[in-house]
Amino acid sequence: MIVKLEKSISEKRLDEIKELVEGEDISVIINESSDEKIMGIIGNLQDVNLKLLEKCSEVKEICKVDEPYKRASRKFHPKNTVIKMNDNLLVGDKELMMIAGPCSVESEEQMIEIAKRVKASGANFLRGGAFKPRTSPYSFQGLKYEGLKLLKKAKEVTGLKIVTELMSTDDIEIFNNDVDVIQIGARNMQNFDLLKKVGKLNKPILLKRGIAATIEEWLMSAEYIMSEGNPNVILCERGIRTYETSMRNTLDISAIPMIKKLSHLPIIVDPSHATGIRWMVNPLSKAAVASGCDGLIIEVHNNPDKALCDGKQSITPDMYDTLVNELRPIAEVINRSI
Ligand code: PEP
Ligand code: MN
Repeated sequence: MIVKLEKSISEKRLDEIKELVEGEDISVIINESSDEKIMGIIGNLQDVNLKLLEKCSEVKEICKVDEPYKRASRKFHPKNTVIKMNDNLLVGDKELMMIAGPCSVESEEQMIEIAKRVKASGANFLRGGAFKPRTSPYSFQGLKYEGLKLLKKAKEVTGLKIVTELMSTDDIEIFNNDVDVIQIGARNMQNFDLLKKVGKLNKPILLKRGIAATIEEWLMSAEYIMSEGNPNVILCERGIRTYETSMRNTLDISAIPMIKKLSHLPIIVDPSHATGIRWMVNPLSKAAVASGCDGLIIEVHNNPDKALCDGKQSITPDMYDTLVNELRPIAEVINRSI
């Protein structure tokens, strides 16, 4: 339920109204839109005394929220969420979140070379899997803790923030210390234990859409993280499984405006895993930026044909450079920048 209140309401009255509502099974969150204060009420709504609320002169409107997600809903939080990485780096603001790097961390030389190249082209985050979720147990599973060390080295050299996937709750502490944005992969989108644990951190979480997840299921996973206290969720559309077989997945471009409508959370797009095809990364990145996404996560490898994972969808640093240059004017039209 949301209660819309006069924007000019005093802190004292706001606290009093909050007290009327709050209870053992009811939590209250306060946000604001351009013309009102929004009180979001979550929990056992039968216990809320509507009659008392209606009597308050500052209450403009009381509305039921049908969607099962609350904290992730734009109705509860009308303004876009902007996540501050540091004074100069914000996610969900004008500048796009440009994450680039190989599918997996393979060696120090590889990471440093790719990091330098993508940074020079305009990337502001470095990706690289240290723990890899592979369909086959016989495929390369990642360099694990050694991979995290190499990501940190590349960060020391370039200053790029690190984005990497967490697969196990056992590694929460080391990820919390070493990683700037923790990625929850498509296969773990509904690993509720993992979601609850990262919800206890104060770190930005990149939540990939599950392979066959609806938008509502995806937002419910964001809700798991947020309900534990972590509001810093970045959604990532990475293609969904459909009946189409000519690509690895089907990029759901329509998820971008739909998420923007339903939620205040930033949404970025992964055109690499969405198709699995190198030449498709360029046109789909353009479509995603033009559709209003907040950034892109792209697999870039210095020798894609020799990559230990996902070489077929990885673009070269030169291709990344061309892509970023082609994206800039598109971003500019919708008042975004790279
Ligand atoms: C990845 O980004 O390396 C990855 C495995 O992606 P996804 O979880 O979307 O398949
Ligand atoms: Mn990959």
